[in-house]
Amino acid sequence: MADAKPVEAVEFTCGECGAVNRLPREKVLNLKSSPLCGRCDKPLLRAYDRFFDDLDPDSYIHPLDKETLDALKRIPGVATLLRSLIRHSFELATRLHHHANFVRVGPAQYPTLWAKFEHAGRCLGIKQLPELYVYQDPVPNAYTFGVDRYFVAVSTGCLELLDDDEILVVLAHELGHVHADHVLYKSAARVFGSVASTIIQATFGIGSLVVYPVQLALLRWDRASELSSDRAALLVVKNPFTVMRTLMKIAGGTRRYAGELGIDAFIEQADSFGKMQDEGPLGRYITIFQSLFRSHPFPIWRTKEVIDWVTTGNYLEILDGEYKVRALIATKPCPSCGNANRVEAMVCTHCGHQLVDEPTGEAAERAVREVREAAGVDEGGDDPMSRAWKEARGWYKRTFTLDGADDGPIVDGEPTRRTPDDPDGKVGKKDGP
Ligand SMILES: [Zn+2]
Ligand SMILES: [Zn+2]
Ligand SMILES: [Zn+2]
Repeated sequence: MADAKPVEAVEFTCGECGAVNRLPREKVLNLKSSPLCGRCDKPLLRAYDRFFDDLDPDSYIHPLDKETLDALKRIPGVATLLRSLIRHSFELATRLHHHANFVRVGPAQYPTLWAKFEHAGRCLGIKQLPELYVYQDPVPNAYTFGVDRYFVAVSTGCLELLDDDEILVVLAHELGHVHADHVLYKSAARVFGSVASTIIQATFGIGSLVVYPVQLALLRWDRASELSSDRAALLVVKNPFTVMRTLMKIAGGTRRYAGELGIDAFIEQADSFGKMQDEGPLGRYITIFQSLFRSHPFPIWRTKEVIDWVTTGNYLEILDGEYKVRALIATKPCPSCGNANRVEAMVCTHCGHQLVDEPTGEAAERAVREVREAAGVDEGGDDPMSRAWKEARGWYKRTFTLDGADDGPIVDGEPTRRTPDDPDGKVGKKDGP
């Protein structure tokens, strides 16, 4: 296995009496209320029942989210991409599309769903709720889109497949993107194909050099941002099992055999997956898949990350009230239209005016090179796609074969050998038939 054994218990210090409590992993992964301190009998997680409406997203943002967003911002072309996203009124066009095609949810339409949405918004302190839509699609999915005024859309597939608590997870996850200020970049990732040509034109030829790096960096951030939103969802539902069950059902749940699908085996699968190396072969391979199919659930990786955050991260501390409180959001006026924008905004969301210069010079060149290298684009030989596949295959074999060796080519589709000693074919056979 790629990783050390999962932790069996989490140690947590009681904020009232200072006693160190040992909480078994299964208990922490299935919290339904705050455990009590073994010594003073007071709740260990003193903010368990609180709404986190003053929470600074910095308290839960996944480090990979931050890191990949910084990398994205260092690449020339990103501000131009955002500007064209805004100037081409994608928000208006998409809103029109939603309004004309989807069912708008509100107190009088799908009120149960609306109440959950409001609840999730209240938990995260989101003052202005986005519009919420349901669209007809058997594929369980949801997304958030927008530039200035956001909206969330949930597929009927989600509503058919998931129970009430799991639907709350999906809505809270989407509102997590709002809370963490992801939506403009998420929207850019969604419409990338349609605006890429604009970047090429706007950057006078060098565009073709930066488009691929921008896309790669955007996709890397896009999947990392999912990890942060899963954390936000967890802070709303407060039961890790529920979040993991949602991921499991989206991965492969069915109503037909619902009673035969269990979370324990799924967690085992996530444990055995090991730590995802975003910079490594698997990360590169997923980038390519992601750019081809625009699918981004990676449910096993995300489950593993939820477990890690709960058992080794600051999740329990937040539930005990230890988190950064959101300060007043600092803004700067747009020199073109005068409207206020967040200090870190690259582009004015009101008029599309570019608020920062595109990075240039050596630093920009280095940023482009780094992202190309991370994606394996600049290593000679095969095209990035087949190289990524070869690497991913090697990684998989090293990670999942029992002796950990990678001693030769894998024959595609080679059947597993079953022998009387090894009825499941688990031991496998390395040296070919
Ligand atoms: Zn205590
Ligand atoms: Zn998401
Ligand atoms: Zn402006």
